[in-house]
Amino acid sequence: MTETLTQTSEIATMVRSSLEACGVNIDALGGAHEASSPLTGEVLMTLPVNSAEDIHTMIGQAHEAFKTWRDVPAPVRGNLVKRWGELLTEHKEDLARIVTAEAGKIQSEALGEVQEMIDICDFAVGLSRQLYGKTMPSERPGHRLMETWHPLGVVGVISAFNFPVAVYSWNTALALVCGDTIVWKPSGMTMLSALAADALLGRAAKDVGAPENLHKLVLADHTGGQLIVDDPRVALLSATGSVRMGQEIAPRVAQRFGRALLELGGNNAAIVTPSADLDLALRGIVFSAVGTAGQRCTSMRRLIVHESIAEDLTAKLVSAYATLRIGTPLDDENLIGPLINKASFEGMQNAIKSAQDQGGTVLCGGGRVNADGEPGAYYVEPAIVRMPSQSDVVKDETFAPLLYVMTYTDFDDAVALQNDVPQGLSSAVFTNDHAEAERFMSASGSDCGIANVNIGTSGAEIGGAFGGEKETGGGRESGADSWKTYMRQATNTVNFSGQLPLAQGVKFL
Ligand code: NAD
Repeated sequence: MTETLTQTSEIATMVRSSLEACGVNIDALGGAHEASSPLTGEVLMTLPVNSAEDIHTMIGQAHEAFKTWRDVPAPVRGNLVKRWGELLTEHKEDLARIVTAEAGKIQSEALGEVQEMIDICDFAVGLSRQLYGKTMPSERPGHRLMETWHPLGVVGVISAFNFPVAVYSWNTALALVCGDTIVWKPSGMTMLSALAADALLGRAAKDVGAPENLHKLVLADHTGGQLIVDDPRVALLSATGSVRMGQEIAPRVAQRFGRALLELGGNNAAIVTPSADLDLALRGIVFSAVGTAGQRCTSMRRLIVHESIAEDLTAKLVSAYATLRIGTPLDDENLIGPLINKASFEGMQNAIKSAQDQGGTVLCGGGRVNADGEPGAYYVEPAIVRMPSQSDVVKDETFAPLLYVMTYTDFDDAVALQNDVPQGLSSAVFTNDHAEAERFMSASGSDCGIANVNIGTSGAEIGGAFGGEKETGGGRESGADSWKTYMRQATNTVNFSGQLPLAQGVKFL
């Protein structure tokens, strides 16, 4: 106990100095919210909670700021994001340390998360000179027809605990260059990371002389989030989290005709075919299934293996799992940090029990690690469960390192199995058969937003659009042309003919 308390105080000291380095005034903190660390399960510090009145005021301030920001030229708006990216680079370690302490990510993954923020800033800066609209041929002589893209308004961002800062930055960097302002409600489990990321943006705004109130950070639970969801001044609500959360908020945003961008749960699978390079597949599967302790929306949760290689591959997987070091993410040797909390551990235990009830056999893992040494922390051995079929439990997302293995005979059946879940985020095929790879990526192949070949389901890059279909919510963020969600489109018809010919040959007056 004493040892655990000492460790918590050490983590708290580390977090405080990192917060200060990022520009957070820690003397102004303190309040009713207890910010804790999954490394020990204990409280690091307390934080203020915003009232309904605060949140109403903040949305109003962001709404007012939008009226100025939308008229700032986009490349000038890009300067703010450029400066933010520089500060994120300078404070990469500081922010990563807070992410590790609060979300439990191993350092390399926490650093990777901040790198993703830097990458989206680069992307957004380039984008600030490329918010292109098309010009179309008009059917009328002496006319020009074109589309223009304008800033949308206030973007409400609601984010999940497992990517406490990266997903927010995907939204914020694009929204800012698109001329929008931001009101951000992070997960209640990762408010410290949010304070640091927001402070760095505040410093960037000061450095480039950007108007005030472009970005507002709301420290509140989901009831505070609902105020953002319901506020008609919020033009776009970008929400990342569970399917349950999406089901609650999407109808409310639709009710007021707001725009919603939903990034919800995944239940991601890989198909491994007989021609696959098994060593490569093994590495891809292990990273996707156990990285971030299975707490990524893109974590691999289902493995669909050809029956001829199933024994060999599962034996290799079980051996590989036995070599993985589990423990505090502050130790660079460890590859698997803690689950976020007790509820998460219990969710995994319940899923394993249900899987066994549905005919599954546990091949390895599932047990708690170091429960005596760290009674408040939930470190767990990643589990592999062989399933006779894709039963109900396999169709649910269990947010923990739990991999179900099923077999197939015919490739088309494997694709059908991959698609036969309610979620549609990420998917992969490991094959050296070109035709199989193409079929997997074709219109009748994987139904997911992400369909990979010879690489796992997790670890997306900034250049491509990120998101998924079905219960994953349909949103697209980050790369490709996802910026269009953050803008409104106008069509302009300009007549320079001196006549007034009507479209479709209509005669009038
Ligand atoms: P969660 O749904 O519990 O919470 C997510 C956020 O929504 C939090 O900020 C929470 O306070 C808020 N929230 C919850 N209910 C709300 C409501 N009714 N109104 C307003 N706000 C509400 O999710 P979590 O446990 O933090 O994160 C894990 C989940 O997020 C997993 O399902 C994971 O797959 C998903 N996720 C998806 C993506 C993606 O890009 N598709 C990325 C990361 C996480």
